[in-house]
This record gives sequence, C-alpha cells and structure tokens, in this order.
Amino acid sequence: MIFCMLLNREKSSGPTTKEDLGRATWTFLHTLAAQYPDKPTRQQKKDVKELMEILSRMYPCKECADHFKEVIRANSVMAGSHDEFSQWLCYAHNVVNRSLGKVVFPCERVDARWGKLECEQRACDLQGTTMDFNDGTK
Ligand SMILES: Cc1cc2nc3c(=O)[nH]c(=O)nc-3n(C[C@H](O)[C@H](O)[C@H](O)COP(=O)(O)OP(=O)(O)OC[C@H]3O[C@@H](n4cnc5c(N)ncnc54)[C@H](O)[C@@H]3O)c2cc1C
Repeated sequence: MIFCMLLNREKSSGPTTKEDLGRATWTFLHTLAAQYPDKPTRQQKKDVKELMEILSRMYPCKECADHFKEVIRANSVMAGSHDEFSQWLCYAHNVVNRSLGKVVFPCERVDARWGKLECEQRACDLQGTTMDFNDGTK
C-alpha cells in the first residue's frame, strides 16, 4: 500500500514534458493578456515586449524558443492595449498551433476562454499595481 502511494507520488512529480510546459506557459501568457490593461503604461508595454523577447531566448525547450523567435520576428509584438495584446498573443499561439498540426483557435473567443485571475477584491489586477511602476508616464 505504502509502496503504491510512493509510486503514485513519483509519477505525479515525474519529468515535465514539452506539452506540460507548453500548457502551463500558455496559461501564464493568456492570463497575463487577460489582465493586461486597456491603457497600459509605457513601462508595461516595454515589459511585455521584453518578456516575449526573453521567452524567445530562454524558454526551456530550445526548438520551441527558436521557433518563437521566428514568430515574433515575423509578427512584431502588439501591446498598445488589452485587445491588441490578447489578439496578438492568440495569433502567435495559432502560428505555433498550425506548425504542430493543431486546431486553430478562434481569436474572437479569446476573452471568453481566458478570464482574469479569480482574486478577492481584484487584488490580482495588473491595473491595480501600475501605480507602483512609477515610470513617469501618468
Ligand atoms: C512560446 C511557445 C512555443 C512553443 N513551441 C513549440 C514547438 O516549437 N514545438 C512543440 O512541440 N511545442 C511547442 N510548444 C508547446 C505547444 O504549443 C503546446 O503547448 C503543447 O503541444 C500542448 O498542446 P495542447 O494541445 O495541450 O494545447 P496548448 O497549445 O498548450 O493550449 C492550451 C489551451 O489554450 C487554448 N488555446 C489554444 N490555442 C489558442 C490560441 N491561439 N489563443 C488562445 N487560447 C488558445 C486551448 O483551450 C488549449 O487547450 C510551445 C509552447 C510555447 C508557450
């Protein structure tokens, strides 16, 4: 019995696959896009572009990172507003989907699929933290 429990524990903490990592990363990115403000500060626009650049260099799957580098080279990151960034990200994810032979996601449904994080009193809203950026653009 204890042996079985140990085996199950080992299984659930086994190596992370490329697919696990991909799903977790897309969840992170689309949730970030869902919370990305309608009117981002200059700093937020810069940060999100840099984040995509960094992903294309440091994503811990080299083949994926190299491919993403091509995706962002061919499609500059659009981060002028919530709509712009969430649509750009949906498009970029679809480029990856197509290259893997996956179904293309209808981007008009992106806001319905990816909502803001459930958080009491909107404590997780990105907008609520923009005041801390102090980037001199407000
Ligand atoms: C930056 C990046 C690059 C990658 N490059 C590669 C690669 O080169 N080779 C490789 O083998 N794997 C790559 N992956 C992993 C791959 O994209 C998938 O995450 C993985 O194959 C698991 O796929 P999945 O079918 O479970 O759904 P995922 O593609 O992980 O999607 C998760 C969920 O997001 C939703 N979704 C799907 N498409 C969209 C969209 N366009 N917009 C919004 N929501 C959507 C769906 O509900 C889906 O169930 C990459 C991942 C990332 C984050």
